Amino acid sequence: MSYKILLPQPILESGREYLLERGYELLDGSGFEEEDIIRDIKGCDAMIVRTAKITKRVIEAADRLKVIARHGAGFDGVDLDAAAEKRIMILYAPRSNSESVAELAIFYMLYCSRNFKLVQKLYKDDYRFAKFNVEKHELNGKILGLVGVGNIGGLVARKAALGFDMKVLAYDPYAAGLPDYITPAACREEIFAKSDYVSLHVPATPDTVNSVGEKELAMMKNTAFLINTSRGTIVDEEALIRALQEKRIAGAALDVLRQEPIDPANPLLNMDNVLTAPHIGAATREASARSSLTCAVGIDDFLSGRRPEFPVPPMKKMLDEMGLN
Ligand code: NAD
Repeated sequence: MSYKILLPQPILESGREYLLERGYELLDGSGFEEEDIIRDIKGCDAMIVRTAKITKRVIEAADRLKVIARHGAGFDGVDLDAAAEKRIMILYAPRSNSESVAELAIFYMLYCSRNFKLVQKLYKDDYRFAKFNVEKHELNGKILGLVGVGNIGGLVARKAALGFDMKVLAYDPYAAGLPDYITPAACREEIFAKSDYVSLHVPATPDTVNSVGEKELAMMKNTAFLINTSRGTIVDEEALIRALQEKRIAGAALDVLRQEPIDPANPLLNMDNVLTAPHIGAATREASARSSLTCAVGIDDFLSGRRPEFPVPPMKKMLDEMGLN
């Protein structure tokens, strides 16, 4: 009997083909809400998860599940404790989407620097005002402050420093061996106080959730922009809305929000100096193809008794205990 792999959301051909060529049975899910997955998971040995949340209830409903692969770099949407309790391995796909997210962070900075949302809104009715009076700047020579300088933050730093001659400051207590175009910040506060653009690239952890709030926003210059392509939970959204409404910072670009999909009543949607998007950092064809293949390879390795390359860090110990060294 072949192993059965649940796909609550479609994945690109690269991963599908890899699994089909190796004799796996693929089950396209009936949906990706909790109840859909609970219904579909029975009898499945593995699952590739895109944006679906994998809750304790889903894990409890699984009767044959051995491994879950997260189609991306974040894994905060999976209940790791529940999975560990049932000895279900969690894999992910770090680096697969780093280029895409880094490019998007640069796009957001460029968009903010030209006040592009306001220019687009005004120029048909008030060409001259949009051209001459809307505040616009170069990125060249500006200070980019990064919070988190791992795979994505590192690429943003390189593109900003070498491509746009920005000065890059970074705060990351765990990063070592930074290239010479990144200046380590003396403290976290320095990032908020000195930067023209603050860009967030940390995972959602107990240390980082709600770590950008009233205090951090108050330290920012009133000409500075906040760019968030990490997780919506990192930012205290109500404090951010207040800072934007009171013009204490110049604007924001938010790929991620606390509530996704966005609430149509969210005031951020209608602010001229705020760009929001439906979490599109990783949603390029290239990143999706890489993530799809990385997940497929990881599942095949694990189910074939080989050590997968990308377990989520808290699960490495379980692989050791299983003798997969
Ligand atoms: P990564 O693990 O390579 O880098 C994260 C960095 O954050 C690490 O260097 C780590 O040392 C640092 N860090 C951890 N805690 C910190 C803290 N308290 N203060 C400062 N730095 C801290 O991850 P990555 O691939 O660069 O991804 C970063 C995050 O981006 C992911 O965890 C995910 O939440 C998010 N992401 C978003 C999208 C999107 O579509 N918008 C796509 C991929 C990833």
